[in-house]
Amino acid sequence: MSPSLERPILYHSAELPQILSGSIHLCIKRYQHGIFEAVVIKEIIELLEQEYGSCQWQSDRDPIDVLIGTILSQNTSDANSGKAFAALKASFDSWEAVASAPADHIAQAIKCGGLSQIKAVRIKQALQQIQREQGHIGLDALKSKPMVEAEDYLMSLSGVGHKTASCVLLFSLGKPSLPVDTHIFRVARRLGLIDSRVSVDEAHSLLRQQVPPSRVYQFHIHMIEHGRRICHARQPHCNECILSRICPSSLC
Ligand code: SF4
Repeated sequence: MSPSLERPILYHSAELPQILSGSIHLCIKRYQHGIFEAVVIKEIIELLEQEYGSCQWQSDRDPIDVLIGTILSQNTSDANSGKAFAALKASFDSWEAVASAPADHIAQAIKCGGLSQIKAVRIKQALQQIQREQGHIGLDALKSKPMVEAEDYLMSLSGVGHKTASCVLLFSLGKPSLPVDTHIFRVARRLGLIDSRVSVDEAHSLLRQQVPPSRVYQFHIHMIEHGRRICHARQPHCNECILSRICPSSLC
């Protein structure tokens, strides 16, 4: 990031309505730190809630299920990864049985999910590492760890990057980590929440810093919903978008 983008500009609070509704707003959107970023993210969260309703943070899924399900979701659709996960569970009695099975057998079970050979090796290695280091195949011990420590451990596992670790933290361990998928990445860039030069990996920490911890779960769900319904990759429906008034990429 260039130095000019790091330095926030201060405006008088009386200017805020004009800034949020007019052209000045476009000039401040790119600043990564400062009061206006907080104001903008707050407004985005509130508008998305107005559009899609509030949702309760659910973090009661088994961490190993989420871990394996997210590895299976890499580079394929939700439908295909769901089928592969169900087939894997149906083919083996336990995660211990998966860990000790030949990779080819695992690949056979998950072949409908794509990249089955690669994912089979990742799954086997991750489960073996957990078994070796935790004494059993389970990740509940991470619940009592600080988020960064839990994240570091998850990212030490085979095939686990920022998104997979974030999914386990958010959906199983009750920690306010923000998984950034293709929809969230695209919508966040268009909204100016992240700079166009920011990578997906960098987006995880940049967006997590902006969204209040108690709103992370809902923000994640709503941004995906918005990307699927309105802010499409090729032709965003800006004329139907509740965020168009504050979006620097709006076509309206
Ligand atoms: S105004 Fe357009 S580009 Fe901006 S978030 Fe809405 S649909 Fe996406």
